[in-house]
Amino acid sequence: MDFRFTPEEDKFRQEIRDWLKKNLPKSGSGDRFSRTSDDNDANPVIYLEFAKKLASKGWVAPHWPAEYGGLGLSVIQQLIFNEEMAYASAPIGYSMIGVGWAGPTIIVYGTDEQKKEHLSRITNAETMWCQGFSEPNAGSDLAALQTRAVRDGDDYVINGQKIWTSGAHFANWMILIARTDQDAPKHKGISYFLLDMKTPGITTSPLIDMMGNHAFNEVFFDNVRVPREALLGEENRGWYMATTTLDFERSSIGGAVGGQKLLEDLKTFVAETSFNGRPIKDAPGVMGRLADCAIDVELGRILSYRVATLQARGMVPNYESSIAKLFNTDMQFHLGEAGMEIMGLYGQLEADSKWVHLHGRFQRQWMWQTGLKVGGGTTEIQKNIIAQRGLGMPRG
Ligand SMILES: Cc1cc2nc3c(=O)[nH]c(=O)nc-3n(C[C@H](O)[C@H](O)[C@H](O)COP(=O)(O)OP(=O)(O)OC[C@H]3O[C@@H](n4cnc5c(N)ncnc54)[C@H](O)[C@@H]3O)c2cc1C
Repeated sequence: MDFRFTPEEDKFRQEIRDWLKKNLPKSGSGDRFSRTSDDNDANPVIYLEFAKKLASKGWVAPHWPAEYGGLGLSVIQQLIFNEEMAYASAPIGYSMIGVGWAGPTIIVYGTDEQKKEHLSRITNAETMWCQGFSEPNAGSDLAALQTRAVRDGDDYVINGQKIWTSGAHFANWMILIARTDQDAPKHKGISYFLLDMKTPGITTSPLIDMMGNHAFNEVFFDNVRVPREALLGEENRGWYMATTTLDFERSSIGGAVGGQKLLEDLKTFVAETSFNGRPIKDAPGVMGRLADCAIDVELGRILSYRVATLQARGMVPNYESSIAKLFNTDMQFHLGEAGMEIMGLYGQLEADSKWVHLHGRFQRQWMWQTGLKVGGGTTEIQKNIIAQRGLGMPRG
């Protein structure tokens, strides 16, 4: 296979690299690996400052159509953009829900008013979004959700609870799915709402993850009254819109290159470091471990390219996205594991320890990727999709 890019695409990549050299935040890269446990809450601030600079280039959502504030990038240009952002560990994680999932769903299903109200505010980095899908008893089986939205005159009144809601503590808006018909079959009684997080009756309660971060939350709805205009698309058709959002969520391309950067840092570390007077590279198994990681990083990239080239040909990736998601989270997890094991007990130290190597990024990578094996559809669910849609096996 020839994976060379066109001269124009190479030029675009260089433009992003040059821009990042000048504009990447200085105080750490702002990524989840470089921060210590004290500055987590400052991270959305780092994102917003960076996003304002991106906005001045039209780069908050460059793959969106120009009429909605994007640059209408091709899929391959988007891949290049994502790769460069991932390689640089640019702090764009906080934009993912608005730019990657909420905005594109609004573009497909929103009214003109909803598009006008929301899309330019996302591309100008004025609003951040969260996703209120999962509930305590509805995760993989999302259609089992119980949060209700009941019609009352021109309004809906929402009661219930969401969980694992990333960024709900600073988001301005939420994409929310709630049950609007109790009697319909479970996929057919769900509606999709665009919810202003300042609406009275919403309470957000932190969930601290195993990295010590406050990234996700429980969100409670107590008689939250929203106008009819908050409904996206038709009432009771929300499940189909939610699957569109999940397709956008799973088809994210280009992130595998973040693994490339970690591998390069690990290689340099191994080449330059000795423990107790003995070069690490001479320890049993270390070189083989690096070679395994290098093969996986390359495979991860090729699987992402497969998804991107399908999209570029106007096809909708299906089980191919699941293969890429499954392989890349495993690959990134194993990179974290390899770094920790190569560093021995040093590999477990926190970023602020004076003995830490490479800012503690490998143990944070290991913990974070443990979560990513669950978020966006668990490893087991991806395997079910690959078996059923890819191999044509019957449902279990
Ligand atoms: C880092 C992170 C961020 C997240 N952010 C958000 C967010 O912003 N908004 C949001 O709405 N949700 C979010 N989530 C929640 C996420 O979508 C759910 O955790 C996920 O869908 C799994 O649901 P669950 O936790 O209820 O686990 P369950 O669905 O209860 O699964 C438990 C276990 O059973 C397995 N299992 C379940 N069903 C099957 C099956 N049919 N076949 C085989 N095995 C099965 C699962 O693989 C898993 O191992 C986030 C999760 C994480 C980890």
